[in-house]
Amino acid sequence: MKKNENFGEWYNEIVDTAELSDKRYPIKGMNVWTPYGWKIMMMIDSFTRRELNATGHDEVNFPLLIPETEFKKEKDHIKGFDSEVYWVTKAGDNELDVPLVVRPTSETAMYPMFSLWIRSHQDLPLKIFQIVNTFRYETKQTRSFIRVREIHFFESHTCHATEEEAQCQIEEDIVMLKKISKELCLPYFLLTRTDWDKFPGAHYTVGIDTVMPNGRTLQIGSIHHYRTNFSIPYDITYEDLDGEHKHVHQTTYGMSERLLGAVVGVHGDDSGLILPPPIAPFQIVVIPIISKKEPELVLDVCKMVTDILTKDGMRVKLDDRNMRPGAKYYDWEMRGVPLRLEIGARDIENKLISFARRDTGEKGTIDLSTLTASVDLLLNDISFTLYSRALNVQESMVTDITDMSEAPAETDETKDDVILRFGWCGSEKCGHTFEETTGYKILGTPYGADPVKCECVVCKAQSIKQAYAAHTM
Ligand code: ZN
Repeated sequence: MKKNENFGEWYNEIVDTAELSDKRYPIKGMNVWTPYGWKIMMMIDSFTRRELNATGHDEVNFPLLIPETEFKKEKDHIKGFDSEVYWVTKAGDNELDVPLVVRPTSETAMYPMFSLWIRSHQDLPLKIFQIVNTFRYETKQTRSFIRVREIHFFESHTCHATEEEAQCQIEEDIVMLKKISKELCLPYFLLTRTDWDKFPGAHYTVGIDTVMPNGRTLQIGSIHHYRTNFSIPYDITYEDLDGEHKHVHQTTYGMSERLLGAVVGVHGDDSGLILPPPIAPFQIVVIPIISKKEPELVLDVCKMVTDILTKDGMRVKLDDRNMRPGAKYYDWEMRGVPLRLEIGARDIENKLISFARRDTGEKGTIDLSTLTASVDLLLNDISFTLYSRALNVQESMVTDITDMSEAPAETDETKDDVILRFGWCGSEKCGHTFEETTGYKILGTPYGADPVKCECVVCKAQSIKQAYAAHTM
């Protein structure tokens, strides 16, 4: 299957053949994490944990079920999730007095507890996170990692004394995002969502969107400022220095298994998956090229190379299966292993190792005496190349328009799409007119960007805001 001919089918095939997940489980949209896919997800989670721990967040684990009475305390929040939640209404033979919601997200599970935990200004800031599965009844066509009904994700929740301190938290979240996405070699747009598209209950939402090679955007995460929108209904207050009781200001930041979906879609090619070295379960595969000449020696050198690289902290697989090398190459290429080392009798004579890069297909040799340093350099360069390549694709898809008539007509998923950038006065009326006329969804305005002098694409009023719009995955 060719990636640029039918992206959707190519994506499904890669997920299957690389054995990332098994969607034959008898509930639609609830897939089995098979070992290889789960290993990659755990690597991604380890970077999330690293960043959250380094910024003083504590990991917690809240119950999966939320009483209806707590779930319904914030009215916008319920409206936003009502059609998506799974309910538990029976236990054994008994109807429950209070029906339970299977968490679609954990605000309403956590905030009743926050109101017990927070007493004084000394309890602030409160910064916690959890990495759990959430459940949303997705009615559109499901797709592994991208649109599922059981979602593996992390969510951080923070409480602060003031709105400004909560705002600082958002800046910290953006720094963490930068570090996590760097490991995945994923570029992204950071866009303040429109008021009609923000998270239910949020003061504002910053969406994190990456671009798939078919030009459709994929939201891989989001950051929200809640102000006191939840702390008022959940009565989360603290006593300040003057003995006055005040409501806390809250934020959340979350990303999901869509990160893995983005890695598959953005980096993969017609030969299969291409994994960024930081998240590859095996960064290097060592393949012995056995000939009649000195087969024992070749295998011994392969073992030695594997041991040295492993000892130096790399994840290495020695493939000594009794198969043709070509069949092994095919296998590991499909699974996206970033670097392949091949060692034969002639290489050993010359004190060299042959390598092949998964990202560019480039082949060459490295000197056995500088093994670790050379391999390290190659892995870093693979990361750099993957990121630059993805950034080029993302930038090349942005098309500036000054009138709605310039927006290309809606295409189906097999065709190349574009991302539109245009002036917008910011009014909801013009926003809706734009979406209805062009069929593109407004993703928002660049978060923290400098003002740009422009004209609204709908009403032609002078503006200083540009907006982005796209078709979404
Ligand atoms: Zn306008």
